[in-house]
Amino acid sequence: MPMYEYVCSECGQSFDKMMRFSELDQQPACPTCGSQNTRKQISLFASSGSTSQVSSGSCGSSSGSRFR
Ligand SMILES: [Zn+2]
Repeated sequence: MPMYEYVCSECGQSFDKMMRFSELDQQPACPTCGSQNTRKQISLFASSGSTSQVSSGSCGSSSGSRFR
């Protein structure tokens, strides 16, 4: 499932959204202000080095002492 980057025209918040192919014509709502006045950003993997979705949930538990 491809991931696209959107930017909100209301509050300027940029966010990533995974869209199904059947949802590409739709505009996702902004997670910050809830507005659907969002635009798709054309960024083809230009944001290298972003660790926003790496290790999400792997080190969230406080009892994680068995990985050694
Ligand atoms: Zn917004």
